[in-house]
Amino acid sequence: MRSERLTRAASPALLRKTVEQLASYRRGMPVTEMRVSCSPLYGETGYYVCPRCSITMEREFMAFCDRCGQKLDWKDYKKVRKIRCGRRDDVHT
Ligand SMILES: [Zn+2]
Repeated sequence: MRSERLTRAASPALLRKTVEQLASYRRGMPVTEMRVSCSPLYGETGYYVCPRCSITMEREFMAFCDRCGQKLDWKDYKKVRKIRCGRRDDVHT
């Protein structure tokens, strides 16, 4: 257990959470979702979604999200869940 003095200044759990959160930007976060937009003009276009800030990425296989800086892990990109026209469909591989 931690000392009481430290506990009062800042909760060790909170501190650990903050540090982990910061470190997690450097650790790859798996990309698990793809948003598919259905346009009558262009047909179906899929955009991968950042696992942290949930924006759709303009390009595939970027090392980092250009919005929030999260490091991206593409090893499971083939198993992404496709979200079609606002509906969530599970992809069975
Ligand atoms: Zn992001």
